[in-house]
Amino acid sequence: MKEEFLKHLQRILREDQRALEENMSSHVTFRTGGPAEYYVRPNRQQIQPVLELCRRFDVPWMVIGNGSNLLVGDRGIRGLVMEIGRMMDRISIDGEFVTAEAGALLSSAARYAAKESLTGMEFASGIPGTVGGAVVMNAGAYGGEIKQILKSVTVLTEDGQERELGAEELDLGYRHSCILERRLIVLEAKLQLSKGNPEEISDRMEELKNRRVEKQPLEYPSAGSTFKRPEGYFAGKLIQDTGLRGYQVGGAQVSEKHCGFVINREKAVSKDIRQLITDVQDQVEAQFGVRLEPEVKFIGDF
Ligand SMILES: Cc1cc2nc3c(=O)[nH]c(=O)nc-3n(C[C@H](O)[C@H](O)[C@H](O)COP(=O)(O)OP(=O)(O)OC[C@H]3O[C@@H](n4cnc5c(N)ncnc54)[C@H](O)[C@@H]3O)c2cc1C
Repeated sequence: MKEEFLKHLQRILREDQRALEENMSSHVTFRTGGPAEYYVRPNRQQIQPVLELCRRFDVPWMVIGNGSNLLVGDRGIRGLVMEIGRMMDRISIDGEFVTAEAGALLSSAARYAAKESLTGMEFASGIPGTVGGAVVMNAGAYGGEIKQILKSVTVLTEDGQERELGAEELDLGYRHSCILERRLIVLEAKLQLSKGNPEEISDRMEELKNRRVEKQPLEYPSAGSTFKRPEGYFAGKLIQDTGLRGYQVGGAQVSEKHCGFVINREKAVSKDIRQLITDVQDQVEAQFGVRLEPEVKFIGDF
């Protein structure tokens, strides 16, 4: 059965678009995790036939973007991982609208918009995800979030239908959308910005970049803020006040620079990171009665 599946996959995708037992650590920003049974990088036209094949052979599938919000289990991922990235990264601008394919980097879209003197996306310039991943997560920073600028998305449904959905249909909330629950694949997003002052736009982007460099442990692999912000608190402050700054499990560590970040300090495996996350949740809860919820998504077998 596996051979049959592969034979069909080979008919859809070029050799450089598919791999077997692909090491996931090179596709996620934590730089940990085991292999994906099948790893593919389809272009827009190839996604539908790949899905169809998975359905026919009963192979589970999932989508990743830039892997900047994912922790992959050390035992890897059974089934097919579809990367929506460089094969789908076109960006175009028409007046105040930016249309970006899901695999485009959010930072590239923000830079492109800035070049065209469009304001509204400055907050997104330092978020290291794809446009698709940012829509799924309703990514945000420094008072901005995707919800504020998203007009509509083009998605592929699980049964292979292409649909355009208005932003209001996506149930966008704090680091949440209904895209994963509905098993949709984001193909493209349309963002609405407004005309701005080029100097002010680039000054704001520079300012936010400097704030990140100053405050965040960007020199180590991580997935950004590990936990969601609990209502009425800041995750980093709670962790710090629990006395967990620098707390380590194996090679994973609560960043000394910013306690809201769990980092891969030195050759961590995903099990270390997961254990550390659980320890932090338990200890913060014991001290403050608040259960932190991970923002990072766990995938595969641990
Ligand atoms: C240093 C650092 C700083 C960060 N700072 C921020 C920040 O300021 N604000 C913030 O919000 N986040 C931040 N993040 C987290 C991360 O960059 C965002 O969550 C980002 O939106 C994830 O995009 P991605 O392409 O990497 O998605 P991935 O991590 O690859 O995937 C995230 C989820 O989206 C799904 N997905 C991805 N693409 C698609 C698609 N095309 N269709 C359907 N589903 C899809 C995946 O299945 C997965 O469930 C940071 C991360 C790092 C490493």
